Amino acid sequence: MKNKYDFIITGSGASGLILAYRMIHDDYYQDKSILLIDKDQKDSNDRTWCFWEKGQGEWDDILEKSWKNIAFKSAVHSETISIQPYTYKMIRSADFYKKIHAELNQNSNFSMVYDTVETIEEIEDVVKVQGRKEAYQGGKVLNSIVFDNAYRNQRKYPVLKQHFLGWFIKTEEDYFDDQTATFMDFTVKQQNNTRFMYILPMSKKEALFEYTLFSEDLLTTEEYESAIKKYLEEKGITKYTIVEKENGIIPMTCYKFWEHNSKNVLNLGTVGGWSKASTGYTFMNIGKKTKELVDFLKTGKDLNTFHKTSRFWYYDLLLLDVLHKENGIGSKVFGYLFKRNKTHQIFKFLDEETSFPEEFRIMASIPPWRFIKALLGRIF
Ligand SMILES: Cc1cc2nc3c(=O)[nH]c(=O)nc-3n(C[C@H](O)[C@H](O)[C@H](O)COP(=O)(O)OP(=O)(O)OC[C@H]3O[C@@H](n4cnc5c(N)ncnc54)[C@H](O)[C@@H]3O)c2cc1C
Repeated sequence: MKNKYDFIITGSGASGLILAYRMIHDDYYQDKSILLIDKDQKDSNDRTWCFWEKGQGEWDDILEKSWKNIAFKSAVHSETISIQPYTYKMIRSADFYKKIHAELNQNSNFSMVYDTVETIEEIEDVVKVQGRKEAYQGGKVLNSIVFDNAYRNQRKYPVLKQHFLGWFIKTEEDYFDDQTATFMDFTVKQQNNTRFMYILPMSKKEALFEYTLFSEDLLTTEEYESAIKKYLEEKGITKYTIVEKENGIIPMTCYKFWEHNSKNVLNLGTVGGWSKASTGYTFMNIGKKTKELVDFLKTGKDLNTFHKTSRFWYYDLLLLDVLHKENGIGSKVFGYLFKRNKTHQIFKFLDEETSFPEEFRIMASIPPWRFIKALLGRIF
């Protein structure tokens, strides 16, 4: 049959392309036919990704900028810290898409089509992908397209959003310490939410200011923008031009996205539940999960068995329960987290690489009664 493939990757954004990249570099996939489908060409810069990483990493050839220090500010605690052995890194999606598209073009077993996927249906042992232009058939489908809002229409797990709007600005004079990224500045008015400014200086004259919330409801564009304007004014930055804008929404929830997986269809990326529920960071987790996935796919096992729930899922759940109930408490929680722990230890914890005693110390550093209440609420 025409349009028949061993694997179909629906959605070629971050997770679809990183998975394809791993397949290109794995001999097992050299004789497999692999199709990527996306509705967009993915040739523009539709987002920037930041992540922390120890030493050198696989995306270093397309790094836009990196920082050795981070600043944290809140009423509880403020400091500028070296994050060694980590580095905070930034890549632009346009460079990432270009790099992987170039590799895909050199591998004839990979095909790319531009089509809007309407449905994915498992019929016995094959999967039918219905596009607006054509139908495609795959042995296994790895999907990163959001088809429904099931996670929003449930009450069992709270759904917050990491939502933000950012301005890349250019100033006339030198203003910024371009060695330090401001991870969270909670000195902005909280207004009963978890709100902070995230600042990435690209040079002494250029920086991204992103007004960010971890909350249920979005703001109007004017609200994000006037908060950035006010913040810049307070810092004495009045002469600047806005070079570019970025906005985004990342779901923060412990909803079990993986329950939508089936024998031959696996959800990846955000729709696979790969966004860290307590922070929204996703990019590095996609890197880790796709490494596991290329090995898992070789076994031919039921894709339902790929996901494993870890104890970190429970920690995220408690934090989200607390922030959902009392959204204004975030600056305090993160304040104590940074005050009483070394930053490299916090990164290790968020990367889900700590041991249980390390996690216990981190959790004991945050005033506990709200978390105990949330835990009791979950148990009973
Ligand atoms: C603006 C922004 C900034 C972010 N910054 C960070 C960050 O700094 N660090 C971090 O760790 N995470 C970040 N994230 C979160 C996360 O890393 C990204 O959202 C990441 O792109 C998720 O990868 P994905 O593959 O799940 O989704 P996507 O990258 O969005 O890929 C999904 C693909 O599906 C395609 N598609 C959608 N519908 C259809 C359809 N019907 N048919 C065909 N194709 C379709 C889209 O065109 C897209 O290419 C950010 C998110 C946003 C929105």
